[in-house]
Amino acid sequence: MAFGTNKLGVHALCWVGGWSEAEARRAIEGTARVGYDLIEIPTLDPDAIDVGMTRRLLEEYGLAGTLSLGLSPDMDISGADPEAAARGEAELMKVVAIARDVGASHITGILYSGFTKYNRPATQAGLEQSVAILRRVCEAALPSNITLGMEVVNRYETNILNTAAQGVAFCEMIGVPNAKVHLDCYHMNIEEADAEQAIVHAGDRLGYFHTGDSHRGYLGSGSINFTPIFRGLARIGYAGPITFESFSSEVVDANLSNILGIWRNLWTDSEDLVRHAKAFTEAQMISATATLRLSNHQPKGVLHHG
Ligand code: MN
Repeated sequence: MAFGTNKLGVHALCWVGGWSEAEARRAIEGTARVGYDLIEIPTLDPDAIDVGMTRRLLEEYGLAGTLSLGLSPDMDISGADPEAAARGEAELMKVVAIARDVGASHITGILYSGFTKYNRPATQAGLEQSVAILRRVCEAALPSNITLGMEVVNRYETNILNTAAQGVAFCEMIGVPNAKVHLDCYHMNIEEADAEQAIVHAGDRLGYFHTGDSHRGYLGSGSINFTPIFRGLARIGYAGPITFESFSSEVVDANLSNILGIWRNLWTDSEDLVRHAKAFTEAQMISATATLRLSNHQPKGVLHHG
């Protein structure tokens, strides 16, 4: 195995904090000019997305699009409040319609619970309710070939999916083929015992991948060891999107930056940041592919005397 024809992407917040036409053009134009294949557009506020304008700009620059969000706590589909769960289901269905209309291939993020620091563990009833709602959302997205990526995140952002193994079990419970696991090495660095093994365990259930370093700044400038991560992706023949996420107080989306705790300025030059991330990612993919090739061609039948 090796990599497939992975689309390389960048999160819009590397460029802009909002989605006016001027902001969308700046983000989409820059992403295309640096040579990426897709842009991930945050849809924490789906009503702020001008569908016609977004579709037109994506087509003008030849970019694929994906949407990402986390449910607000008053839309928690894993909680005991049935009205909040109904609001969450309606919100997810609204984002499915936006994805269909802008031509987005994926909806990813914290789709299964509130995007918040919980002060209590998840309940079995809440988890089953989340699965039942997401089964309906996945079925609604299926005819438009939209994949839903259940993003596995750290314990400070959800109490439902913190490890790849939980993500795999959750998608199997949903039981619809477009329910996929979304892994992010920033979160894996906090929660997984063995990142390479976690990716191998996800296998063909992995449908989306986020790169990002430990401080969410320049790729490779933090403490994450990317070698086993890309080796794991190569071992499973991962062919889905690989999207770079980075956040700095230089670019602020009041909704997202505050929940993520983006208080520090880790970069100021968006273009330099994303240009470097693309080169870094491509180099890691080449290295991991070479490792696989070498490890698959060990001499066989050679006796070592000594
Ligand atoms: Mn992420």
